[in-house]
Amino acid sequence: MKPNWNDSFGLKKKKSLNNKKLFLFENHLNFHKFIFASEKISKDKSIDQKVNRIMSKKQAKCYNLTMAVRKIITTNNKNLKIKSKPVNLKSGIDKKTQNVIKDLLDTVKAASDPEGIGLSAIQINYPVRIFIAKIKDQFEVFINPVIKSFSKKRLSQVLPKKKLFFEGCLSVPKIYGFVDRPYQIVIEWQTPEGKTKKAKFCHREAICLQHEFDHLDGILFVQRVLEQDGKLFQLKKQDDKEEFEEIELY
Ligand SMILES: [Zn+2]
Repeated sequence: MKPNWNDSFGLKKKKSLNNKKLFLFENHLNFHKFIFASEKISKDKSIDQKVNRIMSKKQAKCYNLTMAVRKIITTNNKNLKIKSKPVNLKSGIDKKTQNVIKDLLDTVKAASDPEGIGLSAIQINYPVRIFIAKIKDQFEVFINPVIKSFSKKRLSQVLPKKKLFFEGCLSVPKIYGFVDRPYQIVIEWQTPEGKTKKAKFCHREAICLQHEFDHLDGILFVQRVLEQDGKLFQLKKQDDKEEFEEIELY
């Protein structure tokens, strides 16, 4: 299946270049932003260093007490393949779990301009089954999530091509691809307040939740793309424009 592209957001389709097709995709803009945010964090090692440069030590200390922005690990770190362990909730949410949640929220919020939409604990090197995802403009925390059911219909069967978009990942910088996931899922999870929730999600939210859920099992979206014989694209900058160049796989 060919990914959708169009000319919105001032982007234009390029003709073939050295047998490689260049595509531009408007709907991936959120994911671009997501990636750039992650790179900003990785490049700086930690926001703390950046803060230290612009604040006095005393001010920086105060800032560090309130923010815990973690480095997002990338594919050169084998821990991304770890199957994360369930959180033990027998005696409620302990301090350690609260800290993981705070770190996830702080890390993703540090990427709020541009915006991030989801992050799993393993991406900041905690192998526990927790992720956060933006649901209706707010981050929801999913502890020990279980996907109860998947729709038989997949994205490509339900949505018109122009509504399909690429996935990207903070842990796989600059790489994008379409994964034909089930269109709708029912997921059950624990909240930080100790409640059990169950809800149905579709389209964008279902994609994001399945992507984050895969992280808990050590699966990256690129594996899904390859399983489905899909195409992977690399984001390249050319003439101040962002473009997707197909990666040739042999
Ligand atoms: Zn990811």
